[in-house]
Amino acid sequence: MTTPSETAFTIDTSSIKYGVGVTREVGYEINRMGAKRVMVITDPKLTDSDPVATVLESLRAAGVDAVLFDQVSVEPTDISMKQAIAFATAGNFDGYVAVGGGSSIDTAKTANLYATYPADFLAYVNAPIGEGRLVPGPLKPLIAIPTTTGTGSETTGVAIFDLLEMKAKTGIAHRALRPDMGLIDPENTRDLPGMVVACSGFDVLSHALESFTALPFHQRSAPEHPGARPLYQGSNPISDIWALKAAEMAAKYIVRAAQDPTDHEARGQMLLAATYAGIGFGNAGCHVPHGMSYAVSGMVKEFVAEGYPVNHPLVPHGMSVILNAPAVFRFTAPTNPQRHLQIAGVMGADIADATDEDAGEVLSGLLSKLIQTLGLPNGLGAVGYEPDDVTDLTTGTMPQQRVLSISPRPVTDRDIRQLFLDSLTIW
Ligand SMILES: [Zn+2]
Repeated sequence: MTTPSETAFTIDTSSIKYGVGVTREVGYEINRMGAKRVMVITDPKLTDSDPVATVLESLRAAGVDAVLFDQVSVEPTDISMKQAIAFATAGNFDGYVAVGGGSSIDTAKTANLYATYPADFLAYVNAPIGEGRLVPGPLKPLIAIPTTTGTGSETTGVAIFDLLEMKAKTGIAHRALRPDMGLIDPENTRDLPGMVVACSGFDVLSHALESFTALPFHQRSAPEHPGARPLYQGSNPISDIWALKAAEMAAKYIVRAAQDPTDHEARGQMLLAATYAGIGFGNAGCHVPHGMSYAVSGMVKEFVAEGYPVNHPLVPHGMSVILNAPAVFRFTAPTNPQRHLQIAGVMGADIADATDEDAGEVLSGLLSKLIQTLGLPNGLGAVGYEPDDVTDLTTGTMPQQRVLSISPRPVTDRDIRQLFLDSLTIW
């Protein structure tokens, strides 16, 4: 007997409030959700920042007891997650507010989960690395306030971190982790360095491209029961709308936003694009570029990216994703060339005379031009990887089945190896 195919998809998303100054409404919103004692989660670089000061002021003015936790690491690890969980458990909070990039938001999701439903750390972590246990029920209210223009984490039920002993990025994915609300405030991204805006902008773009080209949901097998339907379901008609619009906006504004910190319009539009892409990929999912990126950032050697306030080697998430993307889209285009052309078209490529055979080159060529324009390194070779590293990178990628399984083209160990080799140099 063959397993029946999937026949349904769901669209879940956080409430979104967008606009200049909405950070000041966090006290009103969390109060409305019934929280009286709130853990505010951020990273040390933001402790004295305007967004954090505004949040604390707004919470206190609303009569909420606010306690600051500012020990999030820029790329979270199991160790930094466990610190936040211990703080959350001891603090007896009935609500959470995350202020920062994906790291702070993902840390808040994890702290909320383990403080609400205590378990061994690997219990809820994605299989096969963890047990992949389902979240037992609803979590405490969580409001996410992004200060970067990239992750879209405010709309998704995914938390990503490095599991240090395995040198691998993994995560927890469940609908219950999704924040109740995202407060998207363009005032919070005004001071970001250009390279940070470029990398997080490429993350947005890749979220859109991957979710639009992902395996269609009806080509997965049906779940055994409704609760087991994966968060990443494959491309579907509603996610497609958000992904297409996000790709159009990101392609239109990424260069202006990265190159001119005073271009408030472009930075505001990138923040909005991140949220659009988050609604798309938060339901459809990402595939191979993200699957490969976890090994690229997890096995970093000495590379240090300009503009990032860290004192250790780091390949920023968006950079580790986009450097693989041109090779991946050349590889996946033959499975659905029209979709690859369609999304290249909304990004501004001239597709009038393009044939199916051109699809991979049209999309990947456009991406590699953008990567070059924004001054990113020319491939994985330029962030310190050599052909000899490809075996380890491949070993680190194959367990990422949650994302690899929704690749539009099945990927073997050999394919991943070849994609890494092809990504060592882009142009
Ligand atoms: Zn991403």
